[in-house]
Amino acid sequence: MNDWKWFGNAGHLIVARWCRIHLCTQVGEYMVSTVGEYWPDRPSREIHAKVHDPEWLARYGILKGDNFDAEYFKRFGYETIGCDRTFETMVFKAGKPCDQEGCNCGLPYPSDLGELDANGYNNAGDATRGHMAMCEKWAAHEEEPALAAESGQDLVEYALLVAMIACGAIVGIGSLATEINSAFLTLSSDLVSAL
Ligand SMILES: [Zn+2]
Repeated sequence: MNDWKWFGNAGHLIVARWCRIHLCTQVGEYMVSTVGEYWPDRPSREIHAKVHDPEWLARYGILKGDNFDAEYFKRFGYETIGCDRTFETMVFKAGKPCDQEGCNCGLPYPSDLGELDANGYNNAGDATRGHMAMCEKWAAHEEEPALAAESGQDLVEYALLVAMIACGAIVGIGSLATEINSAFLTLSSDLVSAL
């Protein structure tokens, strides 16, 4: 456990910039990443409200700042990531460290496009305990050859990972950010309704 490295950046998920909770730990050659409490920017949340409850939006859309946020949270809460969960942990094989100019975060990129393990939760305590349990599990796997990614485990995760941005790659492109959030919300809604 003394050899574990902790990172301040989120380790996975394209929308992780808008996740209020993230934990990222390197245990040996593995990265354990937990994100949750996804809270997209306001334009994205307004799109979400328009799709799911246009009457709500007509009534509360005029509120400003924190007042809007408070009402939005009461009505919708945090957005889910993946299937009906607001937190998730994923495990990847650690690849080469981040090489974004001026970043210096040290965070390794995942070395391939498949997660080795995953878990989901719906509150912060479970997510934190789940993160630690996953670190311990994969620290014990260190000497073994990497396991093959479980096929079909979670197609949505795979799709997201393909588009993953590990640390600062999308900082500074604000208009794209809203589009990413909107696309992500649409994708998750579609997947949930397809299940
Ligand atoms: Zn970096």
